[in-house]
Amino acid sequence: PPDVTVLGRSSWTLLHSIAATYPEEPTNKQQKDMKQFINLFAGFYPCWFCADDFQKYITTNEPKVETQDSLGRWLCDAHNDVNKKLGKPKFNCDLWKQRWKDGWDE
Ligand code: FAD
Repeated sequence: PPDVTVLGRSSWTLLHSIAATYPEEPTNKQQKDMKQFINLFAGFYPCWFCADDFQKYITTNEPKVETQDSLGRWLCDAHNDVNKKLGKPKFNCDLWKQRWKDGWDE
């Protein structure tokens, strides 16, 4: 199976990058599609115990797809939930756009 760490880092990069290019004012269809994408992504995520927890997270914390910023912050919160579980530091979600739209190097 894929390495959970490499898979995770690549997946967060993809997810946050998608949020950063999601429209600032999405149409109803784009909002519906984004919800569906997140649900399908969670269902097919190739680390079953990660997928299990992520699906549970989505059920109690519905994706906020109304604007680009709401999606970006929702994803940041979801990522922080995993950070907490793994004992990693909490990311400041006011910085999500700087990190994933404008970009910074680590
Ligand atoms: P990552 O957590 O991969 O983060 C990459 C970069 O994103 C960071 O360097 C930082 O710049 C930025 N970042 C950090 N936090 C945030 C945030 N909150 N918002 C925005 N940007 C941020 N691993 C497990 O061991 N068990 C699990 O159950 C598990 N579940 C996962 C569920 C999902 C949906 C995903 C995508 C990954 C999951 N992972 C899980 C993997 C885990 O989250 C990490 O990706 C992995 O441990 C590698 O961590 P990393 O330190 O390289 O940084």
